[in-house]
Amino acid sequence: MADKHYNFFESVTKSFDKAAKFTNWETGILEQIKECNSVFRMKFPIKRDDGSVEVIEAYRAQHSHHKTPCKGGIRFSEAVDQDEVMALAALMTYKCAIVNVPFGGAKGGIKINPREYSAFELQKITRRYTSELVKKDFIGPGTDVPAPDYGTGEREMAWILDTYTAMHPGEVDAMGCVTGKPVAQGGVRGRKEATGLGVFYGIREVCNMPDIMEKLGLPTGVEGKRIIVQGLGNVGYHTAKFFREHGAKVIAIAEFEGAIYNDDGLNEEEVFQYRKVNKSLLGFPGSTSLEKSGDALEMECDILIPAALENVINADNADKVRAKIIGEAANGPLTPEADDILSKRGILVIPDMYLNAGGVTVSYFEWLKNLSHVRYGRMEKRFTENLNKHILGQMEELTGKTVNTREKTLIEHGPDEVDLVYSGLEQTMIEATREIMACWKANDKIPDMRTAAYVVAIDKVGTSYAELGIFP
Ligand code: NAD
Repeated sequence: MADKHYNFFESVTKSFDKAAKFTNWETGILEQIKECNSVFRMKFPIKRDDGSVEVIEAYRAQHSHHKTPCKGGIRFSEAVDQDEVMALAALMTYKCAIVNVPFGGAKGGIKINPREYSAFELQKITRRYTSELVKKDFIGPGTDVPAPDYGTGEREMAWILDTYTAMHPGEVDAMGCVTGKPVAQGGVRGRKEATGLGVFYGIREVCNMPDIMEKLGLPTGVEGKRIIVQGLGNVGYHTAKFFREHGAKVIAIAEFEGAIYNDDGLNEEEVFQYRKVNKSLLGFPGSTSLEKSGDALEMECDILIPAALENVINADNADKVRAKIIGEAANGPLTPEADDILSKRGILVIPDMYLNAGGVTVSYFEWLKNLSHVRYGRMEKRFTENLNKHILGQMEELTGKTVNTREKTLIEHGPDEVDLVYSGLEQTMIEATREIMACWKANDKIPDMRTAAYVVAIDKVGTSYAELGIFP
């Protein structure tokens, strides 16, 4: 069976329509939730290092304004087009709704292969893109707040911040115009690893549900689970790291150039360093190399985690997938056909639009930090430590026993910023997982977890629209 050609926005719409049947919203409201409100397409020139002039194509889509600001990453990729940013912006709307982050969805993209440009050229492109956004009021702490995505990171966010602030002198909340910034420039501790950590928390919560695990024929818990990760970028690297640190085994890692396999488990940091030096992960000591990167998707494992790009599991290979669970760390890694095939085969797909919401959740924490102009934990850390010390001292005095040093350090510890960010994220992902599962269990006609996630999202966005009373 071949994939029917859907563009990406159409596939999101298809999933939306499948779920909308399980809600009670009238057609007009459903239409409004589904449509992409605004798209800004731009072209601008930059001078390359060799003196030639190149015209760059870029986009920013704002899918929904039911809550503002809009929020969504910026990707640098040759595959960027209007359809892609619209689809990704729509996913952002649903994602934010599911994890109770009060933003509308947006997404930006610049159609370039960042590997073909020098850092100086990338800086010029990013700064010019930002000033185009400023000109059209498509960026700002109260209007639209970009973040990193495929091909971008802290460095690009720092350029965006600097360009925006230079154009808005004296704007007290300017720091909140972009998230995913370096900590020294208003970023929040824990943002870099947030998406991968959220993927881990989400999958762990599913693995802790005995009824779901029983159906899949797996033991509960993440310990000992055999994991395959596609894409050793920001999201894939951190997902692999947290699974390994919690007792799972990352048995294969796939990248552009191929994949590597080791049944005893791979250490993502060692693989990352090896790839940095050798420009390829193939030949990593102790592993078996697979020349065809896609083969890793068809290997036997408990949990397969695509963390690269769209449509990597499709009608051609969905029949060959031998994982019990697919955790969609990337956005849109499955085509609608693959979704149907996997659902019929009883493979549990944990859907992208909530599973990879860790980034936007912690971006929300970063934005709040920027608006409040104070680091998390600054006010309460010392107070909590003094109080805990006092309580512990009293307990020791009353019982005549002493607590060992390790426990004492743990109990007395007042929260640092990263502790609060991790715990806020953990709670968010656990709540979202439970809410989606509860929705799925409450209606046995809902075919899969993705549809249940959409139902939760549609209900939340629908409620916001209804509360806004914009439909007289
Ligand atoms: P990244 O650029 O840091 O990493 C992506 C990695 O995938 C790169 O190492 C690349 O070489 C690899 N890759 C590309 N094509 C591949 C292929 N065919 N096979 C194997 N590897 C391949 O990007 P990222 O930020 O980690 O984003 C990855 C995915 O996660 C994207 O779909 C993105 O939209 C999604 N996502 C990212 C964030 C975030 O906070 N960065 C948040 C939510 C969702």
